[in-house]
Formats: sequence, structure tokens, C-alpha cells
Amino acid sequence: MSTMSTFTSWPPDLTLEQLDQLTLLATTYALSHSLLYLPPYSPEKQPPPAPESAIHAPFSLLPTPIPRQLFAQALSLQRAYNTLYARIALDTAFLDQVMGSGGISDIDDFTGALWSAWKRLRDEGVPPPLHLGLFRSDYLLHQPTTNDPVSLKQVEFNTISASFGALSQQVAGMHRYLVESTEYFGISPLLASDNLPLNDTVKGLAEGLEEAHRAYGISNAHVLFVVQPNERNIFDQRLLEYQLFQSHGIRVTRQTFAELGTTASISPSRALLVAPISSGLNGTPVEISVVYYRAGYTPVDYASPADYATRALLESSHAVQCPSLALQLAGGKKVQEVLTRPGVLERFLSPSEGAALVRNSWVRLWGLDKGDGAGADEAVREANELVIKPQREGGGNNIYRDKIPSFVAQLPQRERPAWVAMELIRPPREVGAHLLRSGSERVHTRVVSELGVFGWALFGEGRELKEEQAGWLVRTKAEDVDEGGVAVGFSVLDSVLLVE
Ligand code: ADP
Ligand code: MG
Repeated sequence: MSTMSTFTSWPPDLTLEQLDQLTLLATTYALSHSLLYLPPYSPEKQPPPAPESAIHAPFSLLPTPIPRQLFAQALSLQRAYNTLYARIALDTAFLDQVMGSGGISDIDDFTGALWSAWKRLRDEGVPPPLHLGLFRSDYLLHQPTTNDPVSLKQVEFNTISASFGALSQQVAGMHRYLVESTEYFGISPLLASDNLPLNDTVKGLAEGLEEAHRAYGISNAHVLFVVQPNERNIFDQRLLEYQLFQSHGIRVTRQTFAELGTTASISPSRALLVAPISSGLNGTPVEISVVYYRAGYTPVDYASPADYATRALLESSHAVQCPSLALQLAGGKKVQEVLTRPGVLERFLSPSEGAALVRNSWVRLWGLDKGDGAGADEAVREANELVIKPQREGGGNNIYRDKIPSFVAQLPQRERPAWVAMELIRPPREVGAHLLRSGSERVHTRVVSELGVFGWALFGEGRELKEEQAGWLVRTKAEDVDEGGVAVGFSVLDSVLLVE
């Protein structure tokens, strides 16, 4: 079957009885395999101190067709992206120029706070840390008209708190189980296990953390997970924690910024020490090898200036930072735009390292600042095929299509440089899916799917870069929804069905 007809005929018809049976098997599998969230809690009522129940994460009942060759391309691009972002994070002059004072930091408070914290550490002569990136590069399939070939275009590159590695592995396992146990009632010869790629994300991401832990060199040190208070996506994090413990013997300490404000300290030899939250537990502080941030990507995570001070304190130690402030800034959308300008990517990546393939995975981006990124104003005036984005992560921040001109018109001139405009990627139309969300009716709707590829990179000044590709995820959303976050309720977890 050709790719085109697969897309337009997906998913094949299922009877109501078949759908109900698949739903039963899928939800039971999900509940049995940690494909879970904590349930929503009401703001009036604090969640219980220890969880009492969980709900299955939202997911799609069938895997999503992705052309085999584009999937392979996305996986192989990851090594080049790992290298690219490692080099950007080490290029202080470049980051200062794009994100620092005189650049975005003067306009965007959040970027300014992160950059200032980093600058202060440098001014104080604190040696730079080892950097670990647990990355996710996100793509959409691009097919402007039905006559065009389908290609792969990058949405964004995440350098902090990239989530759903563990849950995406569980979804892939669930779809494999449904294929192997039911063959989806024979509705399509494509639904065969050979067409479902394996997804070892938990192992891959834990290997990155383990490599960083080993580089730190003290085997009984702990990895610190910096987490949000009242996080609901804890199983995605805990599966990584269990992998670190069970496969590598590495212990994990989980704390929030607020907790670390009182528990974290730096020893004279610059070891990061973290005491248990409750002094009733064995009160001896533990040494931290790697700080893994699953919080800190949004201003909401810094409830007060004290939390920025805590972030800086953690980075003033010699624990590996995943990510460092520099690496977080490297993941900024402004950096993504500046890279697309002539010759900029090519300063970081040579032709033999895949610079052309990386560039080819991009659509057009412009700065909204006057004078740079020629054509931005014109593009904004005819904004039907554009999205504009501020320097934020985590979903819900972008402005789309016809809302752009009036938004830009009221945007104070001085704030414009903190926004980038991006050509809209145009995924194939008419792909359908059955979406399941705990507590809601099953929904059959037209969808758009976003492929994410995970990778890790461990690097530092004067040290050889180590990096690997580390699995993938698919998030699927209803076609008429612009944004894509799963945690914020826009999309569901999904997996790949390879098609020709
Ligand atoms: P965030 O950092 O908030 O996740 P993204 O850049 O990933 O911001 O954008 C959020 C969502 O908006 C994406 O997951 C995608 O679904 C959609 N989106 C972003 N950029 C584009 C684009 N150029 N074309 C089409 N959809 C896009
Ligand atoms: Mg995103």
C-alpha cells in the first residue's frame, strides 16, 4: 500500500465490539505497565502525601503510520543534533550574544534570570560543570499539498526536562501486545510486529545518566531529580529511577527547588550535598553526582528569587548538570532561529557531520526584531501559514495563523525581539485515530502526530563528547488543535507503525 493511501485510509474500520475489546485490553495493559499519571487533584484539596491511586495516561488505540525511511532519518539525525547542541552550549560568546545582555535577556525576564545566574557564576570564577543533555528533537511530517512527497521537519529541540521517554516505551509495548495478541482482528496486514520498531528509551536515557554518574567518579553518590511540587507525571520519572537503581545500582534523591533551598549545600571541595527532607530520617546529607532537572524549564517553577539562587547553588558545585544553564539557554527558540541564518549552523557542524541533513530538516524561521531575518514583517502580515513563539517551553505559549497580526500589532516594539516566527509545518491530512483519555469517552477524530527522538550527550571543556540516540515517542492530537503537550491535555501518547 502506498504511503498516501495508508494515511488517508487510517485507521482501518473496526466494529464497535472490536473497539470495545481493544479498549479493555489496552487500558488493562496500561494500568499493569505504569502507563500512568497521578489523578488530577482539586486546588482546594492537597493531594495525599503518598499516592493512593493512578489513572492511565491518554493514548491512541492504534499506532500511527510513519514512512519507514523518514523514521530512520529522524533516528540518524539525532547524533548530529546531539553534537550540534553540545557545541552550542560550549560556545559562551555565541550564547552571550544571542541570549545575553544586549540580546534576549534585556527583554525576556525568564531568559534574563537564567542567563544572569550563569554569568554571575562565570564572573565569580566558578569552573564550568560537566554538561549532560537528555534531549528530545520533535518533528512533524510535512506535505504541503497531496502531490508533494512527505518529508520530516523539526518543530523544536528540547534541552531541559524532555519528558515521556519512559511512558512512550510503555505505549510502544502496549501496541505490540495488541498486535501480537489480537492482530487487530486482521483489519490490516500492516499491523504486524515487524512494522513496530522497538523502543528502549528507559534504558537509553538511564545510560546517559549512568555515563554522567561514572564521569563524576563517586559510585555511592546519588543522582538528584529536581521535581515540581504536585507533579502528576511521576511514573515517567520513576521508571527511569528504577532503571538507574536496578541496572546500575545508582540511587536517586527527589526534591523540589523549595526543598533544596533548605537541604542543599556545597562542601569546601565543591561537592553538592543534599540532606533528607525530613530530619527524622537518617539526617546525613548525601553527595550528588548528577543534577537532573525535571523542573526549572518554566518561570512558574521558580516561585521566588530564592529558587533561582538554588539553581545557581546547584550549578556552582562540581556535580554534572542535566542540563547546565548554558545548555538550557542553547535550547531557546531564538537560538533555533539564529541557527537557520546563512552560515550559522555550519559554524557548529561540518558537512561530514551531517550539516546539510540537519538544515534540510528545518522550515523557515524569522526574528521579529526589526532589521534582522529579512521578510519577517511581510510574513507576519500574511500570517496564515505561520506560528510565532516566545522564549518558553512546556506548551500553550504560541500564537497561530490569523491571530498573529493583531497580536503583533499590540506587542510593544521592544518586546518583539523575544519572539520568533516560524513557517507552519503541514502534516498529511485525513489521518484518523481513536483517542482514549481516562474518565472520557473514546474519541474517533482526524489527527496530527508528532515524532520525538531522544538522545543524550555528555560533554565539557576539553573533554571528548559522548553521545547516543536513545529511543523515540509519538504524540498525537486532534487535527484542529494547534498545541501539542500531553501533560497540559492537548495530545495523547502514541507509537510508530512503519509503512513504505
Ligand atoms: P513548546 O516548547 O511549548 O512545546 P513547541 O515549539 O513545541 O513549543 O510548539 C508547541 C506545539 O505547537 C508543537 O508540539 C506543535 O504541535 C505545534 N507547532 C509548533 N511549531 C509548529 C510549526 N512550525 N508548524 C506546525 N505546528 C507547530
Ligand atoms: Mg514542544
